[in-house]
Amino acid sequence: MPGSELIGEEEKSAINEIFDNGGMLYRYGFDNPEDSKVYQFEQKIAKYVGCKYAHAVNSGTAALKCAIYGMGIKPGDEVILPAFTFVATAEAVVELGAVPIIADIDTTLTIDTDDIQRLISDKTKLIIPVHMMGGSSNMKTINEIANDYNILVLEDSAQAFGAIYSNKHLGTLGDAGIYSFDYGKTITSGEGGMIVTNNHHIYQKAREYSDHGHEMNQKFPRGKDTRNAPGFNHRMMELQGAIGIAQMSKIDMILSLQRQNFIKIATELYCEDQYIKIRHGYSRYRDQETCDTMIFDLEDASAAQRAAADLITLGMSTKNLPEALSWHFAGYWSHILKNYSIYNVPQLQRKWPIAQAILSRSVAIPVNVKMDTTKTIDAIKKCLTKLT
Ligand SMILES: *Cc1c(COP(=O)(O)O)cnc(C)c1O
Repeated sequence: MPGSELIGEEEKSAINEIFDNGGMLYRYGFDNPEDSKVYQFEQKIAKYVGCKYAHAVNSGTAALKCAIYGMGIKPGDEVILPAFTFVATAEAVVELGAVPIIADIDTTLTIDTDDIQRLISDKTKLIIPVHMMGGSSNMKTINEIANDYNILVLEDSAQAFGAIYSNKHLGTLGDAGIYSFDYGKTITSGEGGMIVTNNHHIYQKAREYSDHGHEMNQKFPRGKDTRNAPGFNHRMMELQGAIGIAQMSKIDMILSLQRQNFIKIATELYCEDQYIKIRHGYSRYRDQETCDTMIFDLEDASAAQRAAADLITLGMSTKNLPEALSWHFAGYWSHILKNYSIYNVPQLQRKWPIAQAILSRSVAIPVNVKMDTTKTIDAIKKCLTKLT
């Protein structure tokens, strides 16, 4: 939980500054829009990740929805996404009336590119690779496939803000990307999200959708602004923008401490316990992952359950695997998928056999900025070696 570990004086004074200057909490309430904290936060993010446009909204889920809308996806269009993601990715697709076509994952824990090929149809309009737990999907192959079939790519980089692939920030390799700033992500604004793209049309349409269709027509005051498409209210407020800016002053420190801690733990385990299998961070398409999660690949589901229980007894915590698996694996989402006949099957989990097998036998632990790596290493050795 890197960003949230470091909430402190900087965030507090960023908030106080807003109140000291009149307490304007609404991004469109400024005579000069550039005075808005949300606007400044967008500029910071665009500069940091190296893209032309960034638009802030009030959650990562809203960012997904606005981006998908902005990419022109219509009801009935098919959108390919992986079986391992947070439920939000599927929710955003479903909310817009599009059809979620869910692909299996591979040992990288991200979308299986062969399965993407298998699932493409005439109706496929968009692929959403999800960079889970701070590491990249196989963006090279995904972009090649998308190019061949003329399909758009939206990177769900909610969990990968700060990660680099092929010298580019994750989120900037596809046609658009999104980040989340909820309380568990690399940096946090409490709640918040960002859409990034180099495509002005996508940016414009996503922005309009997030703000009731407002076109921000320069010729008119806001009350007389023009519109030509429906929208909703997914606006970010100034307090979130201010906290986001304060968190951005810590991003380099967050990433470097996290990576240091990850390497410290991994190196120690590799040297002394070769038989602990650490998948994450060592067999992936990475240049630089965020390194906020370490994932262990155990014998089977019951070994994973036991190891997790043992870790908790020692005062450690796990991160989504296994304790929140049902929020992250499509095999548990009949509550939203049952309306689609392809998913109306008795044992939904069997639709994605690789995801089912790998995820149920994995244990993930958070790698924090502030952590006792010695205690963590000891706990891992105690709880995980005895199972292999
Ligand atoms: C957190 C997350 C989201 C949603 O972000 P919120 O800001 O919580 O709405 C979307 N996708 C993934 C993969 C996430 O982890």
